[in-house]
Amino acid sequence: MNKTGFYYDESCFWHIAGSYAGPLPIGGWVQPPSGSSHAESPETKRRLKNLMDRSGLTAKLIVSGAAPAQYEDLQRVHPESYLQRFKALSDENGGELGPNASIGNGSYEIACLSSGLVSQAVEDVVLGNIKNAYALCRPPGHHCLPDQAMGFCFLANIPIAIEKAKAKHNVGRVAVIDWDVHHGNGTQEIYLERDDVLSISIHQENCFPPGYSGAEDRGVGKGEGYNINIPLLAGSGHEAYVYAFEQIVLPALEAYKPDLIIVACGYDANAVDPLARMQAHSNTFRTMTSMLTNTAEQLCNGRLVMAHEGGYAESYVPFCGLATMEALSGHKTEVEDPLLEFINLQQPNADFVEFQKSKIDQLKQKVL
Ligand code: ZN
Repeated sequence: MNKTGFYYDESCFWHIAGSYAGPLPIGGWVQPPSGSSHAESPETKRRLKNLMDRSGLTAKLIVSGAAPAQYEDLQRVHPESYLQRFKALSDENGGELGPNASIGNGSYEIACLSSGLVSQAVEDVVLGNIKNAYALCRPPGHHCLPDQAMGFCFLANIPIAIEKAKAKHNVGRVAVIDWDVHHGNGTQEIYLERDDVLSISIHQENCFPPGYSGAEDRGVGKGEGYNINIPLLAGSGHEAYVYAFEQIVLPALEAYKPDLIIVACGYDANAVDPLARMQAHSNTFRTMTSMLTNTAEQLCNGRLVMAHEGGYAESYVPFCGLATMEALSGHKTEVEDPLLEFINLQQPNADFVEFQKSKIDQLKQKVL
């Protein structure tokens, strides 16, 4: 079996993420944006799907939607008080649910659907209906705490899917690799004291949440050693990501021996993203995906699920996403990344790369 599932729903593109110009709330001295408005607009996601369709890749995948996450599924991660507050604000035409987390009318139902897409992808992979899967979910989830929306995230999509799979299908050890450029603080908090979920976040140091590095957070109690953060210096590019994978991410997975690997798959480490300062390109995402498909093959019968997170460059996210989907599914399209050569020329110099590698080596001593 070599089938890749692709989960999406047009409704996810209809969530309204509030009145922001890039990361700044509109008002005071911040002018309304031109063009397509909020950074977390549907366009990055919709254009990825468009490119998949036009390139012929979608036709190679098992495409399906999903039912919205049920209340009992949400409750395994979020307290009822939070869910009710979210639902009430959504019913009342929306507003600020948390820091950098605005919603519109109906966002609650769309968030439940987004979460349902990830849960269905996980369930189908766990049951062996498909080999691996991609959920093009929106809104994203990795910043959401149990009782606090933040950073465009309102439900913890990946933990909700993991907890459902554990409850219904007795899934054992799960590893979450978060390569969104911002720290996966929600996933970290939810699993900080647990050893049955290994949480690894590779991100730009001090980016978001503001001033956050994460290098010291290794887990608490039973969870000690099962939370790994890999903060990279702003400006890091392809080589830093590959080296961090070779030196830390893959060895950590091999030691942990998960039954399932899930990626919090943001594309905002790309070189033209408006909300971060890294230099990754489509080949970075292709390479990381290939490394994980190979590792998943060795460790857990290929069971790998990717859940869409951030990525805010409308023109470029589709090429990073397509490269990821190609590596995941094993189908190469004729599309060439028109920015790849240019971003390759912008990679940091050898001195920078050596310094970043030495930082990764130091971190490796501490975490492995
Ligand atoms: Zn992000």
